[in-house]
Amino acid sequence: MTSSFKVIAETEPGGRRAQLHLPHQTVQTPVFMPVGTAGTVKAVPQDTLESLGAEIILGNTYHLYLRPGHETIHRLGGLHRFISWPHGLLTDSGGFQVFSLSGLRKVSDEGVRFRSHLDGSSHFFTPEHSMDVQIALGADIAMAFDECTEYPADRSRAEESLRLTMAWARRSLDHFRAHRSQVVWRDEFEGRTQSLFGIVQGGMYSDLRRECAARLVEMDFDGYAIGGLSVGEPRALTLEMIAEVLPLLPADKPRYVMGVGYPDEIEQYARLGVDMMDCVLPTRAARHGLLFTSEGRLNIKAKRYAEDQSAPDPACNCPVCRRYTRAYLRHLMQAGEPLSGTLNTIHNLAYYFAVMQRVRQSLNP
Ligand SMILES: [Zn+2]
Repeated sequence: MTSSFKVIAETEPGGRRAQLHLPHQTVQTPVFMPVGTAGTVKAVPQDTLESLGAEIILGNTYHLYLRPGHETIHRLGGLHRFISWPHGLLTDSGGFQVFSLSGLRKVSDEGVRFRSHLDGSSHFFTPEHSMDVQIALGADIAMAFDECTEYPADRSRAEESLRLTMAWARRSLDHFRAHRSQVVWRDEFEGRTQSLFGIVQGGMYSDLRRECAARLVEMDFDGYAIGGLSVGEPRALTLEMIAEVLPLLPADKPRYVMGVGYPDEIEQYARLGVDMMDCVLPTRAARHGLLFTSEGRLNIKAKRYAEDQSAPDPACNCPVCRRYTRAYLRHLMQAGEPLSGTLNTIHNLAYYFAVMQRVRQSLNP
């Protein structure tokens, strides 16, 4: 037994309200998952994430593998215990980070050789190694090792990438099934263990996406992600790929779109039947002074807010909007105060959570 997924209500055109029962947390879906790259959602303490209602966050395998190292984290009781987060956790496979961060990488059928962005040291990731690292980290959900197709990519490149992703999905699944009972917290949860999700790739070619989805479904993963989106393509194409793939995925398993998006996008995709989404956008934008509000995007650095005593978002009920003014948030940013990133991020996450809360309410039976 790994996770279970229970659909509570469904609407046209495919939107659904559900509960994802993970060993550490029951997650209400559709859900937005903040990205906790190196074992922290940047600038926000775990108790604050809890008070904002976060039920599941991400950890990045590539970063945690390089520093402090998966073996260290395993010895310290796994990622939940190490970062003191007793709720839902998902780790990515490391594939996307290798794709996006590593200037020097060499892909072969066996795996990917890459250089650390920290010290230039050479590392080799295979599907089996990615599974070992993710089992050592011990998140509730692990992801199959895939090869993310860049945009734009011509058809032969997308086909080659898909071939690798399919072969690696099979190897990921076989290795994961053979070893997932080794997760450090298994005995605390009556033998329940980690789940593994497969990742649909195929670039921006509908037929390749469909083929990939069909073959992954045959392999019978615990859930399915749509990857390789939000890599620079126009938004209409992102939507087209999601709409193409969603109906092919099993209705009784969670569906996860990786790396999206703006508040209106996550709402749109959730209403189409996407259960899970993650993105660095709300946290990264916050640290650069961009706030998402009910009045649109607000650049808190702008001079016109220097003496603005209104709340960052008057319609928002988050702890930042209840207490502080735009003038103060602007000042913190101008002065380079660390509190700036913290307060901006708390608001943006609260805003994203409120969007999803509204969607869930509208999907309730
Ligand atoms: Zn707020």
